[in-house]
Amino acid sequence: MQSELSIVWIYPDLLSTYGDQGNALVLEQRARARGVPTRIHHVRSSDPVPQQGDIYLIGGGEDRPQILGAERLRKDGGLQSAIARGAAMLAVCAGYQIMGSVFGGEEGQPVPGLELLDISSSRGERRAVGELAAEVDPALRLPTLTGFENHMGVTRLGPGVRPLSRTIVGTGNGDGTEGCVAGKIIGTYLHGPALARNPALADLLLSWAIGPLPPVNDEWYQRLRDERLSAVLGDQA
Ligand code: GLN
Repeated sequence: MQSELSIVWIYPDLLSTYGDQGNALVLEQRARARGVPTRIHHVRSSDPVPQQGDIYLIGGGEDRPQILGAERLRKDGGLQSAIARGAAMLAVCAGYQIMGSVFGGEEGQPVPGLELLDISSSRGERRAVGELAAEVDPALRLPTLTGFENHMGVTRLGPGVRPLSRTIVGTGNGDGTEGCVAGKIIGTYLHGPALARNPALADLLLSWAIGPLPPVNDEWYQRLRDERLSAVLGDQA
């Protein structure tokens, strides 16, 4: 097992809406519970993105910080090098859109992304806001996703990615699917934060970085999941 797991939290000053930074804390807590020493690197938008991290996290944001964040990441190149090296990543909402070829700016203008995911996003007709529940691609063997979405963008998936899930409640990508997965990259519209509501997703990212994991006590996570899923799905939960 490796000496220290390195989690890189990209641009807390620009992209961190609705508690997305909690994703870093959940990964840290669940890695430490398995005896893996872990460090979170907070990379502000004025700093270079380190290339040697194990798991990269990027969150949601308003349109202007999203455009600025995309410009800085494109120029910096550190994240692109890390992904080419095989690092894992969870990209949420604005961060998810930035990973594609293009996304819609505040006036709907196309803004270039990083092309790390075969997706393209544009502004939709109405804001998607509220709770979301979705069934995950069975190949990933994960329980129902729960989270909160708030975005104008809609996302089209290309042949280079698979949908992460199919929506039961909520909008997600806008075509009945939510998020996507390609290699060790997961993109999603889910806030909540996503990994506090979906600890199995956190463990998937951790297992990509450090290998098979023993189970941990998920009682508090499960209580949160039960409460949210029954509020959203009622008897279907
Ligand atoms: N600005 C983007 C949109 O509205 C992302 C929003 C977000 O990250 N919550 O689609």
